[in-house]
Amino acid sequence: RVRTRFAPSPTGYLHVGGLRTALYNYLYARKAGGDFIVRIEDTDQARKVEGADKDLLKTLELSGIVPDESIEHGGNFGPYVQSQRLDIYKQYCQQLLEQNHAYYCFATAEELEENRQLQQKQGMQPKYNRKWLPQHMGGDMPQGEIQKKLDEGAPYVIRMKVPDYISIMFEDIVRGPVEFDSATVDDQVLMKSDGFPTYHFASVIDDHLMEITHIIRGEEWLSSMPKHLLLYEFFGWEPPKFAHLPLLLNPDRSKLSKRQGDVAVEDFLNKGYSSEAILNFVALLGWNEGEGTEQEIYSLDQLIEKFSLERVGKAGAVFNIDKLNWIEKQYIKDRPTEKIISVIKPLLQEELGKKETEMDTERIQSDEYLAQVIELMRERVNFESEFVTFCDYFYFDPEEYDPAAVKKRWKQDTNEVLAEFITVLEDTDDFSADNLEAVLKAFVEPREKKPAFLIHPLRILNSGVGFGPSLYHMLEVLGKQTVIRRLKKGLE
Ligand code: GLU
Repeated sequence: RVRTRFAPSPTGYLHVGGLRTALYNYLYARKAGGDFIVRIEDTDQARKVEGADKDLLKTLELSGIVPDESIEHGGNFGPYVQSQRLDIYKQYCQQLLEQNHAYYCFATAEELEENRQLQQKQGMQPKYNRKWLPQHMGGDMPQGEIQKKLDEGAPYVIRMKVPDYISIMFEDIVRGPVEFDSATVDDQVLMKSDGFPTYHFASVIDDHLMEITHIIRGEEWLSSMPKHLLLYEFFGWEPPKFAHLPLLLNPDRSKLSKRQGDVAVEDFLNKGYSSEAILNFVALLGWNEGEGTEQEIYSLDQLIEKFSLERVGKAGAVFNIDKLNWIEKQYIKDRPTEKIISVIKPLLQEELGKKETEMDTERIQSDEYLAQVIELMRERVNFESEFVTFCDYFYFDPEEYDPAAVKKRWKQDTNEVLAEFITVLEDTDDFSADNLEAVLKAFVEPREKKPAFLIHPLRILNSGVGFGPSLYHMLEVLGKQTVIRRLKKGLE
């Protein structure tokens, strides 16, 4: 049975890169009819942020990715948070000590730093110098010295002994065959002096115990592979399959960073992007369906059906916010009106609670009215919330008129002609767009004016701004009472 996992460290918000990792794991498991697990990797106590685990899980679910097993969803392989599994790691570490794959190291931070600087000066890649490697494991330290330190209760870490001069190979699903020379691999710390395991140690043990079959994660973890593979070998466990995902890049091809824009999934949700558009966008950061496909809009179900790790590329994926915006717009175009209504109604209610309106509040909150606004404005908004914010003049009389628009559109006799036109409107009962257009044209013609002479001022007095949807349709939606009130107020 396929089992995948997303294993965030609770050090902050959910990054878009993390969401992509989670999504690919989710899609892969769903497609195979397997399980998707979320495990919290909180072994770095110094970097742990209180509450970040809950926030990560919440944002993940708000984005539409719901795990089968996690702290909150339970499961047969728990606990799903590493700080509650310390006994397990201790036990496995003991095993490695007994089998001479691991050893105690009492080096102080200063000593390690000194050693590091020395090696760097000599042009070497810094590595632990194995001062505490015991004699029986090929090192120089007599067992007696080690025992003495242990008896004294001196602080220590436990390191793995990386075999000398071997080649470590594996086949990455995305990157193909990868090979490492063990000489470049440090004797990785497995257990820290605070009794917590390191990420490397804990994650290998958990992936094994949780029966993870496929590890899908960011490219930054590729260099950890030799350590992880050695641990599988020490324990005699069969390693899972691995897929390392390409880096996410800024448009200038530097590594995606906060400096160039939002990277927290929460920020995108708060800005009003829909979870569908975000997932669709993130799915395409490194994956595509194949040559010859033009499709860019995928529902989650379609992604589950079509996703494959074989079609994940090696090359860095550029994070292009314009594309996300475009995708969001496609979703709004196609989203059923009732669905939009259900989202914007509460937003409108909130606005109505804050501001007074001259309009019939029952009418403007009705599904019928909102549907008309949505049909008229669908192509013009960027986010669903803009059906309320960007379209505020459908609910509230304008409080001011854009001075630049007024300056451009008002001629000397505009007010005079407008006043006359208001009386015509007062006598017009059919406020349909077609009829309004006919009425306006019939009105301006004998006065030797173009329709634009009135169209622009009518728009400005009704919306406050100089741009918008078709004027006649806008007036139709607003309705006679509102239009006449606004025009009269404008001429006061
Ligand atoms: N805890 C690691 C992280 O924060 C997980 C890496 C992995 O997937 O193995 O990214």
